[in-house]
Amino acid sequence: MYFSTDNHTTENKQNCPLCERPARFIGVDFGRKKKFSCPNCKVFVISPDTEKNLSKLSRKQKDELSKKSSQCDNETILLIWLAEDTKEITSECEPESNWR
Ligand SMILES: [Zn+2]
Repeated sequence: MYFSTDNHTTENKQNCPLCERPARFIGVDFGRKKKFSCPNCKVFVISPDTEKNLSKLSRKQKDELSKKSSQCDNETILLIWLAEDTKEITSECEPESNWR
């Protein structure tokens, strides 16, 4: 699934999919992923498909992802994706330089 904007570096406003606070995102990976900046969760990268799957998570699981994202160090951001085999939501701190 792709999401498109005229210019993928344009900032878009959307409430954070993890904590629901007002946040913003830009498109990265040719518009295939969204890089969110949230005052609470800091910066994380998620695909629109994975974002839809967040609705299956409990509040507590989302809080855990939010916490994990906010605890990535200054050089890394949380990447959230669906594991290919299990389709489970998976996350890991990755170098931010991969996602510019
Ligand atoms: Zn957030």
